[in-house]
Amino acid sequence: MSTTSIASQGRAYLAIPGPSVMPEAVLQAMHRAAPNIYAGELIDIAASLVPDLKAVARTDGHVAMYIGNGHAAWEAALANTVAPDDTVLVPATGRFAHGWAEMAEGLGARAQILDFGKRAPWDLDQIADALRADTGHAIKAVLAVHVDTSTSVRNDVPALRRILDDLDHPALLMADCIASLGCDRFEMDAWGVDVMVTGCQKGLMVPPGMSFVFFNDRAQAVRAAMPRVSRYWDWEPRANPQEFFMYWNGTAPTHHLYGLRTALDMIHAEGIEHVWARHTLLARAIWAACETWAQTGPLELNVARAEDRSTAVTALRLGSPHGTALRDWVSEHLGLTLGIGLGMAPPGDPAWHGFFRLGHMGHVNGHMIMGLLGGIETGLTALDIPHGTGALEAAAQVIAKG
Ligand SMILES: *Cc1c(COP(=O)(O)O)cnc(C)c1O
Repeated sequence: MSTTSIASQGRAYLAIPGPSVMPEAVLQAMHRAAPNIYAGELIDIAASLVPDLKAVARTDGHVAMYIGNGHAAWEAALANTVAPDDTVLVPATGRFAHGWAEMAEGLGARAQILDFGKRAPWDLDQIADALRADTGHAIKAVLAVHVDTSTSVRNDVPALRRILDDLDHPALLMADCIASLGCDRFEMDAWGVDVMVTGCQKGLMVPPGMSFVFFNDRAQAVRAAMPRVSRYWDWEPRANPQEFFMYWNGTAPTHHLYGLRTALDMIHAEGIEHVWARHTLLARAIWAACETWAQTGPLELNVARAEDRSTAVTALRLGSPHGTALRDWVSEHLGLTLGIGLGMAPPGDPAWHGFFRLGHMGHVNGHMIMGLLGGIETGLTALDIPHGTGALEAAAQVIAKG
């Protein structure tokens, strides 16, 4: 074996922005024989998830659970609220808003996209102009991605609510919190969000496979007025199940329920405010390191202003081919997997190799983040990519001061 990969064995670390690191306790909760789905503890566990999910989302509204990934929740939210020929307004700050818009178009809706590029948050004035111009109230919903995982831009959801209120526009405010829930502060009711979608494999720390649509009574009224809602995606029986199978429209995601039960216990034991504060502190350490590396050489944070950055994911620019080279090196030599750049350049374009992303969502603590940063520093050094010195010291200062 070559000595260059001498440091690769040991516990692997997947530092991509979803799926995230799974706690041992979650894995252990799932490691069991198949449970009965007709009677027994699974019935109670499913019912117990509902109030705890709502507590994480900060809502007294309703939640429907789906077996599916985040894309499933996107479709579910639309299937209950947006009919063919309806219009949705989609402010985009990266790949994911476009994906949600495409899903709406697939259901026959019209998507009016406002594209704000890949490095900055929504321009609220342009959103206000678009809503003001919609005097006939054709726009039925605004599809608002809270944190775009491809760019690591975080958008100001409460400000969007204020615009809708100021204009007296009746469009539903629908938020994608797939990357942000359980990481970045999000308060569904206080922020006036009507529909919120999320998945289980990011801040909720469970393997991919479940997703959730939260909705309030306003959204339910829109659902009630729909000409039809496809039976599978209908949120009504799932949110008000008369029988256990109605939660899922079929067989329950048995082992996910054990895993999610444990993950929610962990979140509630820590406290959601503490979870948010932990993500903020660790993100600030990452930014401090990145800003130090950026003092010399090609590395650059994708989002310039700290207040526009997610605390769950960080997108970085390193120039081609350094991004791919760094990811390959730390994977081969350190057992550390960094995220690819997503949607920043077309695959096949040499520029594609100029990006990478860090996932720091969910089950992450100080030593993991210092290890992640140390791994990047090691890769930059091994590959002779110029970078400012003192990044780890800068990160340590942030965490040390708390
Ligand atoms: C991960 C993610 C999605 C897609 O979720 P899947 O589970 O991959 O379908 C959508 N939106 C955002 C913001 C995400 O981070």
